[in-house]
Amino acid sequence: MFKALMMEQNDEGLASAVIKEIDEGALPEGDVTVAVDYSTVNYKDGLCLSPKGGGLVRKYPHVPGIDFAGTVEASNDDRYKAGDKVVLTGWRVGEAHWGGYAQKARVKADWLVPLPAGLTPAQAMAVGTAGFTSMLSVMALEDHGLKPGNGPVLVTGAAGGVGSVAVAILANLGYEVAGVTGRPESGEYLKSLGATQIVAREELNETVKRPLESETWAGCVDAVGGAMLARVLGQMKYGGSVAAVGLAGGAGLPATVIPFLLRGVNLLGIDSVMQPYDNRLRAWERIAKDLPMDKLEAMVKPATLSDLPGLGADILKGQVQGRVVVDVN
Ligand code: NDP
Repeated sequence: MFKALMMEQNDEGLASAVIKEIDEGALPEGDVTVAVDYSTVNYKDGLCLSPKGGGLVRKYPHVPGIDFAGTVEASNDDRYKAGDKVVLTGWRVGEAHWGGYAQKARVKADWLVPLPAGLTPAQAMAVGTAGFTSMLSVMALEDHGLKPGNGPVLVTGAAGGVGSVAVAILANLGYEVAGVTGRPESGEYLKSLGATQIVAREELNETVKRPLESETWAGCVDAVGGAMLARVLGQMKYGGSVAAVGLAGGAGLPATVIPFLLRGVNLLGIDSVMQPYDNRLRAWERIAKDLPMDKLEAMVKPATLSDLPGLGADILKGQVQGRVVVDVN
């Protein structure tokens, strides 16, 4: 038996969380059984913890948790053996497949990555899907020519999970970082992570009036989307790139194509879910090397399974600062 947070539906089809003991035989099919040490709370987890599952959960009862780190307990795959430390993000685990909000998980070996040297399971979940995606964004910007000398880099949704890790990585790599936040009280926090400029959300969330504004940003990690992304496109320096990661401010894009045509601006799509294995390894290695662990610790709040329903609701309202590490045991 093991402990899990399970989403169960009522007669009206609305799901709520119950913490219960589950028989190991109930675990889904997979080649590797993992004793989970830690999971975390990402925006998608907030959706999966909500009464309608955010359109992501199709079948109940369901164990959410889109990522986890832990120790292999049993494996039918040659790549993993009992005792190996592993991390999992993506592949719709926690949405279509039972996830990390439990003491055990059973998954496909293809979905796992060996825990990178230098990271503990707790640190890997302090990074989590959000931080992994921040690193994918930084890598994409670098692949499109971003260098510290090019000018300031903007991070939107800066005090959230993706934003906080992006700020810390970019600052550590020597970039001048500006963070957009809707929470003025997060200014000091963002400066402690390495941001040198704080931009108020109101300055950027108005719809585009002029397709081009002053050339300001050499790069951008955008967790917000919507009107803010449209504004940022018009403020990019010539040839600059925006990594489009999230939709915390909306899925629309009320923009014009003018920044692409007249300034050669690049809009780079970032997906963490289906990333090929080699790129996952590269991103985790870069995280172990380029994300200062003291900055990571400073953005973490600890939690347990029973805190998750409240945290899920908070993250959907944009009220979680930094990263949450969930001790599932
Ligand atoms: P968080 O909630 O931790 O961060 C989002 C931040 O966006 C908030 O903290 C807030 O920052 C800001 N924000 C919230 N609402 C609004 C709004 N209406 N207008 C402008 N800004 C807003 O979530 P995560 O960091 O976990 O995820 C961020 C986004 O990235 C989500 O949309 C998520 O789905 C997406 N994502 C995408 C991935 C991919 O593979 N592409 C992987 C991981 C996440 P502040 O208070 O500083 O303003």
